[in-house]
Order: sequence, then structure tokens, then C-alpha cells
Amino acid sequence: MKIWVHFLTSLILAAILYPTFSWIVIFIFIGGVLIDIDHYINHAFRYKNLKLSDCYNHYIVTNKKNSYHKNIGILLIFHTIEFIILMSLLSFYSNIILMATIGILTHFIMDLIYTFSIHDRLIANYSLISWIIKNKIQKV
Ligand SMILES: [Zn+2]
Repeated sequence: MKIWVHFLTSLILAAILYPTFSWIVIFIFIGGVLIDIDHYINHAFRYKNLKLSDCYNHYIVTNKKNSYHKNIGILLIFHTIEFIILMSLLSFYSNIILMATIGILTHFIMDLIYTFSIHDRLIANYSLISWIIKNKIQKV
């Protein structure tokens, strides 16, 4: 999903929650927008390439041409159920983490709806445990 959509959604959430949580609503943007940095982390490890422009081309231009086939089953560490569960548990201890988690959860749900509606299937693997098991089986 496009970054500007995540930014706009985070902005709306921040505006709604600002009267209650004040300036810490800024952390909604960290969860809602910046978690897509895991695409860069995945690209850097997978292709041993740190160029941001190559990463952008890979996910936006190349993948669109081949219907995202190269990305089926990839791990995007911040887009996993396990990460969301961890952040949800930590939210009980900090309102700053709660704000980030609200952003992450909204981002995650929007990504799932978008991916499923456009491609009729999920592209990335949304579970770290499932990803580890699948990769272990493929190596044996
Ligand atoms: Zn995303």
C-alpha cells in the first residue's frame, strides 16, 4: 500500500487521539508509516544491496510487472503477528508504545485488506514462526 495512504490514516488517528494523549500521538506515525522500513531491511539482506533507489525499484516497479511473485512468502519483520503481539503486551507499560502499536495495527490491517483485495492472496508471510518453519523444511 502507498505510503501517503498510511500517512493520511496516521494523521487522522493522531487528530482523533490528540485531545486524550497530547504530543505522544506523534508515535502513531512511527508505527503507521515507518514500519515499512522492514521492506528495506529485507531487500538489503536478500540482495546484499543497500541502495535505497534499488529497493524502491524492486518493490514498486519490478514487482508490479511480475505480480509480486518474487515476494511470495518473504519475511517483513515488523509486519508479523508476533511483533504485533509483543508491541501489544508492551503497550500496557507505556502510552508511547501504545501509540506506536495503534499505528502498527492500523497499518497492518490496511496492508492485509489491500493485498487480499488486489491479489486475492497474501504476499509476505505474516508470521515469524511460520516463516522459520517453512524455511527449515525447504533447507532439509
Ligand atoms: Zn506495510
